[in-house]
Amino acid sequence: MIIVLKQNTEKEQLILFKAALEEKYNITVNTWVGVESTVLGLIGDTTQVDEDWINAQEIVESVKRVQEPYKKANRKFHPDNTVIELPTGQKIGDGSLCIMAGPCSVESEEQINFVAERVKAAGATFLRGGAFKPRTSPYSFQGLKSEGLDLLKGARKVTGLPIVTEIMSSAHIDMFEGVDIIQVGARNMQNFELLKQLGKIDKPILLKRGLANTIEEWIMSAEYIMAGGNNKVILCERGIRTYETATRNTLDLSAVPVVKKLSHLPVIVDPSHATGKSWLVEQMSLAAVAAGADGLMIEVHNDPKHALSDGAQSLTPDQFDEVARKVFALKKAYDEINR
Ligand code: PEP
Ligand code: MN
Repeated sequence: MIIVLKQNTEKEQLILFKAALEEKYNITVNTWVGVESTVLGLIGDTTQVDEDWINAQEIVESVKRVQEPYKKANRKFHPDNTVIELPTGQKIGDGSLCIMAGPCSVESEEQINFVAERVKAAGATFLRGGAFKPRTSPYSFQGLKSEGLDLLKGARKVTGLPIVTEIMSSAHIDMFEGVDIIQVGARNMQNFELLKQLGKIDKPILLKRGLANTIEEWIMSAEYIMAGGNNKVILCERGIRTYETATRNTLDLSAVPVVKKLSHLPVIVDPSHATGKSWLVEQMSLAAVAAGADGLMIEVHNDPKHALSDGAQSLTPDQFDEVARKVFALKKAYDEINR
């Protein structure tokens, strides 16, 4: 971190400020006194240094971070890829391609069991399905809640597929006991109290990127979970809000290699919420594999036209068969050329 001091800074003020920084943050401060201005270089772990506090000091002209504000999620401090292994044996981030597929919302026992069997047969490695739904309108279907969780657990029993489902409140954590991966949706990416509570449990967390969040903010949210002791975080790019209206969101595929450069955490892509259109899911799934994603999350519904949520972006099981076939074929070729 570099701090530029104001031109008229007295020597006494500089000494006091330097001592305060060193004591407050347990770092070393190097000083360069120039003709025009004085510059301080903070050496050591600056993740805890509060930029606002520094900016608030009278003698400070400007502050610039030269190191990322996150540590546990930072590849610099953890060069190897994080591989998340589930008690059921599935691995995420080990070079394989995980596919989480299933309906936006769990709607009934027949629906979830049927979709689970079909996506499993096509090669999906996880069953997704929402029980608690974050809907823009309070009048839209809000999910089957605890009954939805029970139905997911039932489908897990029938198919053996581990389940991924969204949590909306830390008050519900106990209800998610039998869930294999807990999803934090885009709207809750910066629900810091929820993230802190999820940091205390020993279960993988799928952290979706917020609707209008930068990559740094997204990784900082992963850092919240990791700071609490839970290192099992999977990041999911699901499109961000831009000026474009042709698609529901804009899929930021460059986020995949960017995040992988900055962090050691696995990154997956959700082309369903990113595009909002079922006909775009195949091409964007293939593009995500080519971008180096560790997996995909795809919405699949038995009858998209009558889905209680996100029907327009949901694939039929037959369409999913085709997407999965192409995605695995591309993954094989990808591994071959990257050997
Ligand atoms: C979902 O996965 O159904 C969902 C609501 O996703 P997002 O948080 O990305 O909108
Ligand atoms: Mn959805």
